[in-house]
Amino acid sequence: MGFPDGRELHEECGVVGFYGVGHASSHAFMALQALQHRGQQGCGIASVDDGNFFLHKGEGPVRDVLGEQQIATLPGNSCIGHVRYPTTEVGGQENLQPFLFSRKDSRFALAHNGNIVNAASVKQYLERHGHIFHSTSDSELFAYLVGSGLRGEDWDANIRAAAHLLDGAFSTVILTRNTLYACRDKYGFRPLSLGSLGKGYVVASETCALDTVGAKFIRDIEPGELIAIGPDGIRSSFHSHSGSRCMCSMEYIYFARPDSVIEGCSVHGFRKLSGRLLQEEHPADADLVTCIPESSMSAAIGFAESGGLPLEMGLIKNMYVARTFIQPSQSLRDIGVRMKLSPVRSIVKGKRVAVIDDSIVRGTTSRQIVQMLRDAGATAVHMRIASPPYAWPCYYGIDTGTKEQLLAYGRSVEDIRRYIGADTLEYLSVEGLYKASGRTQLCTACFNGAYPTDLYQNNAE
Ligand code: AMP
Ligand code: SF4
Repeated sequence: MGFPDGRELHEECGVVGFYGVGHASSHAFMALQALQHRGQQGCGIASVDDGNFFLHKGEGPVRDVLGEQQIATLPGNSCIGHVRYPTTEVGGQENLQPFLFSRKDSRFALAHNGNIVNAASVKQYLERHGHIFHSTSDSELFAYLVGSGLRGEDWDANIRAAAHLLDGAFSTVILTRNTLYACRDKYGFRPLSLGSLGKGYVVASETCALDTVGAKFIRDIEPGELIAIGPDGIRSSFHSHSGSRCMCSMEYIYFARPDSVIEGCSVHGFRKLSGRLLQEEHPADADLVTCIPESSMSAAIGFAESGGLPLEMGLIKNMYVARTFIQPSQSLRDIGVRMKLSPVRSIVKGKRVAVIDDSIVRGTTSRQIVQMLRDAGATAVHMRIASPPYAWPCYYGIDTGTKEQLLAYGRSVEDIRRYIGADTLEYLSVEGLYKASGRTQLCTACFNGAYPTDLYQNNAE
């Protein structure tokens, strides 16, 4: 589930781009809905038609911001779109994407997912040289660098030069009057996939968006790669090389939709295997297994199958609770969990229950769930977490809070078990995480503090 305490401001964003597709903005509307789980704070689409740019964006989910009327104001066969959660920036209209910018006598639109770790130093440098920024967003910085024409008139070279200056996580789409660009940072933190649709092309943060619009998956954009889709087809070049492939492991664990495939690994497949491996590492003396709907469903299936235990609906989710419900105190946070989740008494009463969750961040959810299950008559609650202890802050676009807010920071598993009140608590190992992904490289910084980049001034605590 998402954070129960109103901290719905802590995920990341999703981007899409269409080139040469009839009714591009209607397709983008559908693709953005498929990426809605990546952000509900705001969304927007920028399209281009006959050299003219059109933009509509607003606060709220896709269905509220982009109705039929708005889509009708976004003509053309090419467009980009964005769904957002604020990350390091504050919320507000001025930070909604896509952004429209001017470069000499031409315009371009840009939308971005991620967090740039050297943004403050690059901005300070530019401000010292007299440049003024209107929003607090990394995207404006990226666009500013593109627009400043670091490499003269050549768009490809300018975007490469801008991307090369920026360190951190970005999956970015840029639309000029006749070209759609898509690029990923050199580490490859955030996903970005390319597909074809009729004679046109689509890029999207997740393959589930390609599936929704009926596009055919071609390949993932590579870390450090810039692709340009224009009248002459697709050009590929590289703005930087890091030699690493540090896909965010939380994409596999929690963020991405289970039907997406990220760099060749099915998200559902990953989660199910992580549940199996968790069970092999830490079996539970239980009568039944339950997930916390819905994010830990795949892991719970794997855990139950591997342990030969029945998977039951021990908890149900109220889907109609407002996501923006703000709960400023711990007692209200606790009620927040109870509003979202309820135990099914007839299933858990008198049973030893193994509860599978994908992660523990502050511990609010787990603590409440243990109590709820006990209140409903469970005789034992064994908590199993399908990822390692989340103990280090993320600087790459997943704003889960400071070290002090992370329950696992500086605490042992036994300390955490006591805090959440479970009979037993176990986590998947980092080795298990790698095994489930079938990869040799991942970003695991929030689990072990091994940050793939320099942290610049972000690590000031
Ligand atoms: P907490 O209650 O703070 O321990 O949060 C853990 C719960 O939030 C788990 O059930 C996860 O499914 C979910 N979760 C993990 N990371 C995030 C995130 N960045 N944003 C929203 N929810 C999250
Ligand atoms: Fe993902 Fe964690 Fe790395 Fe952030 S620190 S990019 S959440 S794996």
